[in-house]
Amino acid sequence: MERDAVKIGFIGLGNMGGGMAANLVKAGHEVRAFDLAEAALAHAIENGCVTTGSAREAAAGVEAVVTMLPAGKHVRQVYADCVIGAAPTDAILIDCSTIDIASAKAVAAQAADQGYQMVDAPVSGGIAAANGGTLTFMVGGSDEDFARAQPILAAMGKAVIHAGGSGAGQAAKIANNMLLGATMVATCEAFLLAKKLGLDLQTFYDISSKASGQSWSMTSYCPVPGVGPETPADRDYQGGFAAALMLKDLKLAMAAAQDADASVPMGAAAESLYQAFANGGGGGLDFSAIIKMLDAEGVKG
Ligand code: NAD
Repeated sequence: MERDAVKIGFIGLGNMGGGMAANLVKAGHEVRAFDLAEAALAHAIENGCVTTGSAREAAAGVEAVVTMLPAGKHVRQVYADCVIGAAPTDAILIDCSTIDIASAKAVAAQAADQGYQMVDAPVSGGIAAANGGTLTFMVGGSDEDFARAQPILAAMGKAVIHAGGSGAGQAAKIANNMLLGATMVATCEAFLLAKKLGLDLQTFYDISSKASGQSWSMTSYCPVPGVGPETPADRDYQGGFAAALMLKDLKLAMAAAQDADASVPMGAAAESLYQAFANGGGGGLDFSAIIKMLDAEGVKG
């Protein structure tokens, strides 16, 4: 579909933001990009972005601002110091970072106070999806804000879904990733139990992937090397979605559950297991590598 070219400020060109900014350029948009890291700026130039000397400069004179930053504190700081007041008030502000719901709502409210429209639009999909333009965006904001952000997000993803009002994108992301963390641990446990019970793991996969135990963690992201489709397990758990990032999302889910007074015993168990895995040095491995820790632990009790 032909889309109108838009002048976009992009702040945060890391593992995810670098590929996302490149896809906006490919879609014909003019991207003014900034990151604190020199290497990220050099990569952005190779991908056709115009780099700027500061985040304020990236936000000046644009029709949209996209941010892809590590955590809530970075988003609060960048919006307060470099976006609100620097971007034209008719620019649509889009934060794609995964952050706590309270920060997402607070920043959107500060932006609205100054006359801006803003959405939270965290993503599902890792670095390969960011590079390939196949992310799924979960968007929080009014109908009008969503309508303005949608065509820009569509240039970076395969699905753009309106989750609800401000903060709803983060709520959807956090609840989804809590489910993912818990189902990955459960999938690993089931394979390890099957092995101890003498089952062939490929046979167990063939049965369970067509039975009621089936999940994305099993059929799309199998944690056992050589079983199911090719996954990080087949590359010694390198690449993929780092266990440290899964732990980050589980911590966000636990904080959100506490604020909302929600009962999340499986999410809490997943969080403590990923914490133990990270403490043991596994944080840089793909999150499915937690099967190695569970295998080494054997039966507790
Ligand atoms: P990253 O650390 O690779 O990138 C973040 C970038 O922000 C870095 O390049 C850093 O230099 C830059 N930055 C930090 N503070 C800045 C500032 N004040 N001004 C300008 N630039 C600044 O992280 P990432 O993997 O790209 O993840 C970004 C966000 O996406 C995170 O919230 C993460 O949770 C989320 N996410 C990541 C993945 C993944 O697989 N990596 C998947 C889904 C969601």
